[in-house]
Amino acid sequence: MTGRKFSRRGLMQGAAALGTAALIPRGLSAQQAARTAGAPGAPLPGRGELIIRGAAVLTMDPAVPDLAAGDVHVREGAVVAVAPTVEAPAAQVIDGAGMICIPGFVDTHFHLWNALFRLFVRADVPALGYFPVTARLGPLMAPEDSYRSVRLGIAEALAAGVTTVHNWSHNTRSPEHADAELSAMRDMGIRGRFAYGTPVGMADDTPMDFAGLARVKNDWMPDKENLLTLGICSRNLGALTIGGAAAATSRGVLTIEQIKRDWDGARALSLPITMHTSGASPVLELERAGLLGSDVQLVHPLLTTPEERAILKVRGVSYSTSPQLEARRASQLGVIQLGELLEAGVKVSLSTDHIASISCDPFGSMRILFALHSHRIGAKVPLTLKRLLQLATLDGAVDLGIADRAGSITPGKRTDLVLLRTTDVNMAPAGDPYEAVVSLGMPANVDTVIVDGRILRRAGKFTAFDHGKIVAEAREAAIALRDRAKWPT
Ligand SMILES: [Zn+2]
Repeated sequence: MTGRKFSRRGLMQGAAALGTAALIPRGLSAQQAARTAGAPGAPLPGRGELIIRGAAVLTMDPAVPDLAAGDVHVREGAVVAVAPTVEAPAAQVIDGAGMICIPGFVDTHFHLWNALFRLFVRADVPALGYFPVTARLGPLMAPEDSYRSVRLGIAEALAAGVTTVHNWSHNTRSPEHADAELSAMRDMGIRGRFAYGTPVGMADDTPMDFAGLARVKNDWMPDKENLLTLGICSRNLGALTIGGAAAATSRGVLTIEQIKRDWDGARALSLPITMHTSGASPVLELERAGLLGSDVQLVHPLLTTPEERAILKVRGVSYSTSPQLEARRASQLGVIQLGELLEAGVKVSLSTDHIASISCDPFGSMRILFALHSHRIGAKVPLTLKRLLQLATLDGAVDLGIADRAGSITPGKRTDLVLLRTTDVNMAPAGDPYEAVVSLGMPANVDTVIVDGRILRRAGKFTAFDHGKIVAEAREAAIALRDRAKWPT
């Protein structure tokens, strides 16, 4: 295990700004830490000026027409022009022939901290399920483990075309763990929100770490132009219906008074809130307590009533659905209510949830939603493939409050861009581009990924990251965790 140190600017600058004591990892003296301190990770590619030429462009902006073949011009991260032909003699040219250009996917609920637990989890063996594994190993994680797991998860997300992630950290064990997760997000160059949570296993009557939250906000989000933003992930209101005892004891089962205590603290810092609803629907209780607002995102829309959906619409609450894992739940625990939510006008977005037991695949998520909607609701609530791609891009940006800068290919935005190869065997000969993306697309078709003007992947490979090192370090951390836990016993 290295002595990598996590802070926004690296140890020495951070120590000077914040005081050294809080920045030294347990077990290291200040001198040791100084010797092994890492500056922020390897430099990201520069921004510069680039133009994608001749791609089919799906803008997801009603005011900017799609193009069967056209150019997207980007300068210093900002979209400058989207048109059939754009003059940009100084720009780096990316050949978009045979490609579909879409906004990067926005994943609105993703537990990156436990990505490396895929070494242990079995989807079909309850004792090795996601909840028992996270409950057992989560408390043993050091900041370095969190860093390696988040970095692995982001590598997979970027490879799948996800350029914005809501990093739902419900194992923020200390401010150092928060710094580690944020360092991984920064080092990988992804856009996103860090949802600062509580440690797995923390007592329900213990409040969130508001001092840590305030420090992270001040240290990592000094101005409004950050690629990274901050929020909180709340523990659950009321009993869970999934995960058994492991979930109940490790994730928290809070009273409405305890929820209000934590949410009031977040709101005092102007931080948005997210919460799982993996049990009896909490909407009416939250509404009675006056806690719902447009700064709230709920997760797993399986059990809402018409009355509750009307409340969610009025309050401007977003609901994130994670279809690949929700579809694994027993149907008596609720069904994915996409049709009901859309019909009621509730904001909905798309998420992976975790990758300890599935791979990151927004294409597969869109397809499952389409299949289940066709299966349950059908034409009663029309659902187009374009609407599904909007759900996975622009609607996610709306959910995370960043639609002014991301989510659609709109001149003036800093939208992230993804190029998909239509010449691959699973897509060729491609016809309608929405059919190609939603019905046929796979992460393997992701050719180029551009985040905030930086080309992070090209021809299906990272431009600046060592894939082998990311994977090897994640595996090393997972094995060391297993040994510390004497897993399995
Ligand atoms: Zn979740």
